[in-house]
Amino acid sequence: MSKTVFLDRDGVINKKLENDYVKSISEFEILEGVKIALQKLKELGYLLVVITNQQGIGKGIMSEKDLLKVHEHMLKELPEIDDIFYCPHLNGTCNCRKPENKMLYDAKEKLDIDFNKSWMIGDSKSDILCGKSVGCKTIMICDNLKQHFGDFMGKNLVECVEIIEKNR
Ligand SMILES: [Mg+2]
Ligand SMILES: [Zn+2]
Repeated sequence: MSKTVFLDRDGVINKKLENDYVKSISEFEILEGVKIALQKLKELGYLLVVITNQQGIGKGIMSEKDLLKVHEHMLKELPEIDDIFYCPHLNGTCNCRKPENKMLYDAKEKLDIDFNKSWMIGDSKSDILCGKSVGCKTIMICDNLKQHFGDFMGKNLVECVEIIEKNR
């Protein structure tokens, strides 16, 4: 069984857009230090799986094809990522949108993952609840203790990797 780091996408890998969705490659900006952080996690032996809510598709703001183009670009820039699972549905209409955990179980089935040796990193409460619900350790990316719901807190992915290295 594999140990895995599950990664939320927007606000963890790439810059989150305020009140908008990343609809094209030009809107996809990889955050500083992410590449090196992912490489470090691979050295530590983790599978890297992106788990992302993309409700913009359900809302009709972007198409599934738009999303796949962005993800193709992401994998080209960050080949360290092993797989991507996304939920295109509207809030409240499915059982995969985080904090629901179907995407994690789909990944476990496909990649033979041991949740108890795995981590979830995200910048939203829904990421943390999702990870906790299957028994992963969680790190919330935020800079405000009051908004922090994870087992650990980091300011960015680089800090998260330091936390994983110390607590694995
Ligand atoms: Mg996010
Ligand atoms: Zn869904």
